[in-house]
Amino acid sequence: MEIPEGHWGIYTDKKNMPLERFDPFRTIINEFGTKVGHITQFSPLRGNRPFEHVKSDESEETITSPPTDSFCKIVQGDFDAIIITKQDEVGENPFSTTPSKGSVKNYESISIVNLFTPMARVLYEHTQKTSMEALQDRSVGIGLVHLLTNHYDTLSEAPVNEVYSLLRTTQLAHKRSIEALKERYNKEQLTTLHFFNIGEEAGASICHLHSQTYIYANNIGHGWTSLGFLSVPEFHKNIMKDEDYCLACNIAKNRNDVKDPIGQELLIEERIIYENGAWFVFAAFSPERDGQIRLIPKKHTSKFTELSNDQLENLADALVKANIALDEFIKIAPPNMHLLKDRNILIRQENEGYNSGMHLLIDIISIQRIGGAEIMETYRIATMFPENTAKIMRQSLIDKGLISES
Ligand SMILES: [Zn+2]
Ligand SMILES: [Zn+2]
Repeated sequence: MEIPEGHWGIYTDKKNMPLERFDPFRTIINEFGTKVGHITQFSPLRGNRPFEHVKSDESEETITSPPTDSFCKIVQGDFDAIIITKQDEVGENPFSTTPSKGSVKNYESISIVNLFTPMARVLYEHTQKTSMEALQDRSVGIGLVHLLTNHYDTLSEAPVNEVYSLLRTTQLAHKRSIEALKERYNKEQLTTLHFFNIGEEAGASICHLHSQTYIYANNIGHGWTSLGFLSVPEFHKNIMKDEDYCLACNIAKNRNDVKDPIGQELLIEERIIYENGAWFVFAAFSPERDGQIRLIPKKHTSKFTELSNDQLENLADALVKANIALDEFIKIAPPNMHLLKDRNILIRQENEGYNSGMHLLIDIISIQRIGGAEIMETYRIATMFPENTAKIMRQSLIDKGLISES
């Protein structure tokens, strides 16, 4: 079949490939020779992608979109796709150039190559043997979409066992893609951005519940936010004069009386919304948006690919409950918070090839209006303490019979 330029990240001409520019006033080069700063990626062909979101009535209690989107059509075998994993089964090679149709209705979850990926995955013919140096500012890597074959709009309505299946197939697709990229580009450092966009205002162009991963192999490096998460563990070890110190592990161990290394009392018990055998669900201590939830694994883990099956199973449970708690909070939050039910879920993890000691975190952040000061800095003016947010969220889970009063 004839593949339009850029679809599934397949390019025949270098000049069409997405490229990145770094803000020259706020970019440095780190010890791996990769850039760290503000990144803008230009992917003009992506402007042609369709927008399938169905306008929902904001006054409705629950929104449900019709199961007629592109993902449902892939599942039924009506649309072409490059399927990397089907539940725990291996599918196509991550560099495959042969999309095909075929029903996957018998599987719970699949990972596919993103049709409108923001980086080049395969460079055909004359560009194929191009070295990383010759690519310069062009973006290369693998863009993935992970989805459930059943149609849901949100994580709140998806059954826990199906979410577990989604996390497992996602993990397998990550492992396969990372391995393939390291081999093809003979390179250890990769940047992985893994997230859910849920709802139109959160950037989802398709209602059908899905997560996405961008794995970059070029020297895109990362932004200042990641730099913070990657640098702080070393700072903590130094200030605590303890090579084994990890703040998140310390929270898991000494939950009643935890101060962070800069002396803040973290109010752990007041901020817990829910916990299970492997995860804490907190109202974030210093929320970026009202109602922000942060999930922390109890056992030290740096990367999504390193989470055990037990951690993934418990994560599915924690994610569903956290999303329900946020739904309920948004329903009763003061109107002047201007919180929308659309949200992003950000899996913050250590980059491939780094040895930072970072403890993986997952943030659930709603869409909310913000002001200039909040764009100028990693800064936020909030009106509710997370201790109160947690109380409201905990109570909502008790009212729904999802957790018991204790
Ligand atoms: Zn669907
Ligand atoms: Zn840790």
